Amino acid sequence: MKSPIVLIKNIGMFLLLLLLNYSPAFAQELQTPLEISSFTKLSSYDGIIAFINEAARVNKNIKIDFIGESSEGRKIPALKISNREFGKDKSKIKVLIFAQQHGNEPSGKEGALLLIKDFAEGKLNKLLKRIDLILIPQMNADGGEMNKRYNGQGLDLNRNHLILTAPETRALHNLFNQYLPEATLDVHEYYPYGEEWIKFGARKNNDEQIGSVTNINVSSIIKKLQREVFIPYIKEHLKKNGFSCFEYIPGGVPEKEYIRLSTFDINDGRQSFGSMNSFSMIFEGKNGRDSIDNIKHRALSRYTTLKGYLQFIYDNKDKIKNLVSVERKKLINAKPGDPVAIQMNHFKDGSKLTLTMQSTYSNKDTLVTIENYRPLVKPILEVDRPVGYLIPKVSNELVEWMKRQNFTFSPFDSKEKMKVEQYLITKVDSIDFEGDMVINPTVEKKVIALTNASDYCFIPTNQLAGNIIVQALEPQSMIRLATYKMFEHLVRVNENYPILRIVK
Ligand SMILES: [Zn+2]
Repeated sequence: MKSPIVLIKNIGMFLLLLLLNYSPAFAQELQTPLEISSFTKLSSYDGIIAFINEAARVNKNIKIDFIGESSEGRKIPALKISNREFGKDKSKIKVLIFAQQHGNEPSGKEGALLLIKDFAEGKLNKLLKRIDLILIPQMNADGGEMNKRYNGQGLDLNRNHLILTAPETRALHNLFNQYLPEATLDVHEYYPYGEEWIKFGARKNNDEQIGSVTNINVSSIIKKLQREVFIPYIKEHLKKNGFSCFEYIPGGVPEKEYIRLSTFDINDGRQSFGSMNSFSMIFEGKNGRDSIDNIKHRALSRYTTLKGYLQFIYDNKDKIKNLVSVERKKLINAKPGDPVAIQMNHFKDGSKLTLTMQSTYSNKDTLVTIENYRPLVKPILEVDRPVGYLIPKVSNELVEWMKRQNFTFSPFDSKEKMKVEQYLITKVDSIDFEGDMVINPTVEKKVIALTNASDYCFIPTNQLAGNIIVQALEPQSMIRLATYKMFEHLVRVNENYPILRIVK
């Protein structure tokens, strides 16, 4: 028989062991799959799901919603992060961040998972006083698993936001329409290691490129806030934290092509939400030579940028919320007759751009001056905004498109006296659209007497997506629906354009 003192000692040791095993203070630290692998292996889809489940288990502010399924059947998780029921506190700003639309650009996902870890550990609780966040770490799970740009159907998700034929983009837009977040952010990577850069002798080397929206129809005040306030802020934030940053300037080597800002097309994540006057942006982090190359630095760079972005939204919550509210009302109350740009181009503003690049010979920093720098977007063709458009009910593909986009439309009620205009396509040539040639129809417009009103649906332009609707449906728009294969038949020479305009 043991002495009472030994017994007490044993019981004490037992209690201590119990405490060590079960006290949260000693619980194993939450790690992302990339961290578990010591930054040697990208987070797999299953790894992401296990990690976010654990994050939601340890912190009640994190809720997981599956917003849809990829074409290969992987459920797409969206994390709603809020310190109360999501969307209930109307004084907060709603932010939607989505990463990895392109499966071969994985570091946005890894940065997002590191951010989720901080939320799970309560380190970012302060942000939740003003922000309700929806975070989608991986939009394109099928592409991610195969390290390929496209989704399981071979579609480029970030060229699919106008036609919404991919289940992933449909799920994202349904989510957007449900909550109408004031701020949206799309996270990508750029690849500066191609042959043309080796030949040029220098490559882009900034850890981050930050892009604002450029479409001329988007609120100029929102664009100004992005370019003149946010981008300088995030540059400084990244510099303080040991990362470099520049404005997003896509395109190839400077001596061959002009250098411009982001596209003004409306089929990508930033511009589609931006066209509804959201504070919508794109981040393009520097990719590796392959998917795992330099991944720790890349993941930490994305994570640091995301944290800086959320801090900016937190600091400017009222400003952004009010601005977006005012600018969205302008879309909803848009007046017929106001101009909408349907053809645009990139122009010089008289400035030269000096960029720090990396020499491909010495790997040292080298300054490159870009003469042909075109940071301005200007309209080259405008139309008067109609009251709305008439869509033939027999055009099933158009009706299905309006449904996928969640546009407001109805059977046409012809009781009211309205003027109806029809386009005749008289000629077709082509026009340069950011380096691609697209069909450029010539049209004649005439007023017609509508005899078969019940054959049409009416889609008004005074709605949040009003500018998207005009740019998609005008036959001369360089970013129209008819530039897509499934809608090509809408524009035919010597035929009437089947979509009609209702004007005052
Ligand atoms: Zn991308």
